[in-house]
Amino acid sequence: MVFDLEMIKKVYADFQDKVDAAGEIVKRPLTLTEKILYAHLWQGKATVAHESGKSYVDFAPDRVAMQDATAQMALLQFMQSGRTKVAVPSTVHCDHLIQAEVGAGPDLSRAKFENKEVYDFLSSVSNKYGIGFWKPGAGIIHQVVLENYAFPGGMMIGTDSHTVNAGGLGMIAIGVGGADACDVMAGLPWELKFPKLIGVKLTGKLNGWTASKDIILKVAGILTVKGGTGAILEYFGDGATSLSCTGKGTICNMGAEIGATTSIFGYDKKMGEYLSGTGREEVAKAADGIAKYLTGDPAVYADPEKYFDQVIEINLSELEPHINGPFTPDLAWPISKFADAVRVNGWPEELEVGLIGSCTNSSYEDITRAASIAEQATKHGIKAKSEFTITPGSEQVRYTVERDGYLGIFEKMGGVVLANACGPCIGQWARHSNDPNRKNSIVTSYNRNFAKRNDGNPNTHAFVASPELTTALAIAGTLSFNPLTDYITNDKGEKVKLAEPEGIEMPVKGFAVEDAGFQAPAADGSDIEVIVSPESDRLQILEPFPAWEGTDLCGLKLLIKAKGKCTTDHISMAGPWLKFRGHLDNISNNLLIGAVNYFNEKTNAVKNQLTGEYGALPETQRAYKAEGVGSVVVGDENYGEGSSREHAAMEPRHLGVRAVLVKSFARIHETNLKKQGMLALTFDDKDDYDKVMEDDLIDITGLTSFTVNKPLTVVLNHKDGTTDQFLVNQTYNEQQIEWFKAGAALNIIRKQFEDSQ
Ligand code: SF4
Repeated sequence: MVFDLEMIKKVYADFQDKVDAAGEIVKRPLTLTEKILYAHLWQGKATVAHESGKSYVDFAPDRVAMQDATAQMALLQFMQSGRTKVAVPSTVHCDHLIQAEVGAGPDLSRAKFENKEVYDFLSSVSNKYGIGFWKPGAGIIHQVVLENYAFPGGMMIGTDSHTVNAGGLGMIAIGVGGADACDVMAGLPWELKFPKLIGVKLTGKLNGWTASKDIILKVAGILTVKGGTGAILEYFGDGATSLSCTGKGTICNMGAEIGATTSIFGYDKKMGEYLSGTGREEVAKAADGIAKYLTGDPAVYADPEKYFDQVIEINLSELEPHINGPFTPDLAWPISKFADAVRVNGWPEELEVGLIGSCTNSSYEDITRAASIAEQATKHGIKAKSEFTITPGSEQVRYTVERDGYLGIFEKMGGVVLANACGPCIGQWARHSNDPNRKNSIVTSYNRNFAKRNDGNPNTHAFVASPELTTALAIAGTLSFNPLTDYITNDKGEKVKLAEPEGIEMPVKGFAVEDAGFQAPAADGSDIEVIVSPESDRLQILEPFPAWEGTDLCGLKLLIKAKGKCTTDHISMAGPWLKFRGHLDNISNNLLIGAVNYFNEKTNAVKNQLTGEYGALPETQRAYKAEGVGSVVVGDENYGEGSSREHAAMEPRHLGVRAVLVKSFARIHETNLKKQGMLALTFDDKDDYDKVMEDDLIDITGLTSFTVNKPLTVVLNHKDGTTDQFLVNQTYNEQQIEWFKAGAALNIIRKQFEDSQ
């Protein structure tokens, strides 16, 4: 048993009292989202802060899940916390680094060889610090979490945007950056901006070709990729309770594509069945005991407009199957309009590859529904005209569907079973194409379809659909096929009409698995050595950042005055650099290479004040570091927007930048800089940005009396001997000032932990 029943019981222990108290205080019925937030809030597991008219909740999640790419830096940082064990139950899942090429067996063997040092590190660090480790081949993080760890009413974070999948089991589950996971594992709370609530009322019942996937494809069309930003989507209504638990997971999973903080369904019979079917009868029983607290109040669902910021209603009985794309998941086409859209827009009509599975859509129900289509094709002597791949989400699902004969059905149709891993969904796909310059189309049952996402090829038009529809299109080999109305011709010239898909929600013989791929951590990890080769170019043990020297900072060089947009992507680029995400020194070679230099409008070309020459930004900063001179990065508005990336704050710190001075910050990046012991400052008068010159030496004063709400002073010492002096603002609270003084938040945590021993 890998779930933690004791922890779940603890969460449930006073759930009802807390929810009742919340209802009493706000004097109105509550949504499910509110119930979970309030129950956690008043269990002492969360606090609310109000700042600049916005509210933030700091809470201690019940779980942390990490995928192998993002876990590396999160765990390297965690190692600095001084703790001997993680503060909350945590798991690592090896799913993102396995490249799909020929099929599950050989692909997995190659990945184990190529990523050995990363897997050895993750396995040993997990073993040492009490973290459950799911080996390569065990499955995709979100499917494994749904099968083993998610529980109604819980709150979790995960270092991957599709962590939201666990909403299918009634959990508030949120995707975060690695630094956030590190903090939570080290015992710090995690901060969430108090969300907007969008209610999605589902009426009617799915039928025929329409699947759960079509609900989220429709919602994506309504809300667009930005419509869910800052919001939690709460699904309810008869239509919601009629959906399988895994179908609910699919909907929540793809909620990440509309920018939602997360999505959630209330606890119901289907969730209870799934919990029991996956070996968690005790959790189902515990949830049954407090069932009415694990869903929204009836008065809320009867009159949703009164309680949600926005309400969407979808009648499932009338919903058509959808295909979304290309290049964006919110371009939603009902199947009846899709063939015309293909022709009118000139999208390549031939379907080259159909791909089903992934963490989004590889449940037993998905596989059986898709297999029912594949079986009809084989019966009529039809092989898939397109290439066709199947990615099981976990070894448990893979083993069970193989045992029950479904993988064999796909193979007969010409399908290739890939490893239980992300593979083509994250671009880990050595696709066989005779001409990458040819415009081409693929359909997947995954969730994201932005340009280059699946195969790195900008000419690939990727569409998203349900597994059963993807299978039908792959059989026909063309995007203009509508299985609801069209026929396929077999080799004998017979016209074949595919019957509606039929699926089985839960395996009749139950789920089974021989080796799920789980490694439980050692009870006492004190003697376990974390494996990192000193020669590795992918992993590097972190050294704690040095404490503040106790004086004002004088004579700092200007590293760059960045012009315009400077996102976390400009500060720490992704793409090929991701290979080095576990090696701070190597990945620091991408520091700010995307930022535009105000003085020459070029990227990655700044003046080295030591030589007067222009050079690449990371090399220039390394030259300053070698001379023991600190530097300052100056930026424009909303500096550091984009996905929360700890590297964007760690790299400048590692290379010796002391302060980032901007017109305004994206809040998360500002906090990340503070965590790493940097000075994050804003111009009191934004026009002072114009006073910064290329050859300036910069003093930052007032640090010896650094206090909450007290501005600091910046002096620009210009090359011509003149100076400019002005106030700069800072938003450090007392704890954050301590982070600065100690050199990083982790230095404080380590000290506190050592003192408590
Ligand atoms: S299968 Fe795709 S969506 Fe799911 S975790 Fe992997 S990359 Fe992310």
